[in-house]
Amino acid sequence: MTIAPTPPRDTAATRAAASVDRAIRLIQTGSAAGATCSPELAKGPWEFDAGPIGYGPGSSMGDVIPTGSPRQGRLPESYRTATDAELHDRIRAAKATLGERVVVLGHFYQRDEVIEHADFVGDSFQLANAALTRPDAEAIVFCGVHFMAETADLLSTPEQAVILPNLAAGCSMADMADESSVEECWEQLESVYGDLTAVDADGRVPVIPVTYMNSSAALKGFVGRNGGIVCTSSNAKTVLEWAFERGRRVLFFPDQHLGRNTAKAMGVPLERMPMWNPRKPLGGSTAAELDDARVILWHGFCSVHRRFTVDQIAQARAEHPGVQVIVHPECPMPVVDAADAAGSTDFIVKAIQAAPAGSTFAIGTEINLVQRLAAEYPQHEIFCLDPVVCPCSTMYRIHPGYLAWVLEELVAGRVVNRIEVSDDVADPARVALERMLAAKPPVPAGPVPAPVAAPAAEA
Ligand code: SF4
Repeated sequence: MTIAPTPPRDTAATRAAASVDRAIRLIQTGSAAGATCSPELAKGPWEFDAGPIGYGPGSSMGDVIPTGSPRQGRLPESYRTATDAELHDRIRAAKATLGERVVVLGHFYQRDEVIEHADFVGDSFQLANAALTRPDAEAIVFCGVHFMAETADLLSTPEQAVILPNLAAGCSMADMADESSVEECWEQLESVYGDLTAVDADGRVPVIPVTYMNSSAALKGFVGRNGGIVCTSSNAKTVLEWAFERGRRVLFFPDQHLGRNTAKAMGVPLERMPMWNPRKPLGGSTAAELDDARVILWHGFCSVHRRFTVDQIAQARAEHPGVQVIVHPECPMPVVDAADAAGSTDFIVKAIQAAPAGSTFAIGTEINLVQRLAAEYPQHEIFCLDPVVCPCSTMYRIHPGYLAWVLEELVAGRVVNRIEVSDDVADPARVALERMLAAKPPVPAGPVPAPVAAPAAEA
């Protein structure tokens, strides 16, 4: 796992100097060339806490946020008006006071000014597992998005409080599949397939539900109750193999692209992967199409990874002969097909680490990770496939001001923004996670997770 401890100060300073936040501010003031997807990215995220409900500026700003999504209360003024340096000092002081009582987790896509204070850096499941190494920590501060904090709560002890610094940090992809829509889909599938628990002569049920890690705890609970399983972008192929051993079909949610890219690489024909649109009867397919299906793909996507295009790859190749293009499997299928390799964030990191000095990479994933890799591996040329600076809208909602606030509240003996999963959801959700771990045993620290596609030979 790429679970990294807090970097040395020099490295952190170098990264902060090259951070996405800084780049955005320079672009917005006209001090640097380039383009952002929204001028509002230069504002503090608290500007949006009290505004109209939405994901805020960034990649998901055009997505519809579900009614009832968590709202963040107004961040106290002293955090909103503090300078970067003041917030940095306050965070360091609070962490020093709390010592082993707190562990701070930072997702790969988080801004550098927050990552600088993380005890562990990685993807969502790696971080939830990293928290297991700190059973004595009373508080787990998850600098990521809502479903990640839920997963950490599922895996932590009841005595530990999992804290999300900004409650508005959801995930637009996870929000595209809500429990009631999936329950309704399940009922409609039962009307087509009959009893969903009935096994055929080969011992397989009609359909197995598979949810991506990037989903609510409620959906993990749903698949746990219905014989299903969770997958990550690293183990999706292994999980689909597990599901095909037990079911004639798979219902895959919420990310259509991860499902399609993985199943296609396994040889499933595209015509046997109908899309399920929750706003249409039978998801928009006929009963015959659903009967013939191997993988039913939920109509969900990541607005960060949907920004990458085949034209961007062509441009990168034209401008950088010899460039290796590596993209995340949440990208659309034509982009994955045109790339040299596709794999999880950890796969991307490991591919760069293993490359000979002087390599050039065009990376199709969230800009904060790409910029950080470019700063940390100066022996390579690394750039984001998308020339427009457009971070994940919801990761962006975690700012050092919120981190300072939750930590100083802990120092004062108060737990704010706690994320708790109720037992009736947590128990089946853990079953679904345990099935995943049994399908592919936990990876000990160090190794590379299996990519969806093999890396380019020279990577
Ligand atoms: S990058 Fe995509 S999947 Fe990840 S938190 Fe942001 S919107 Fe969700």
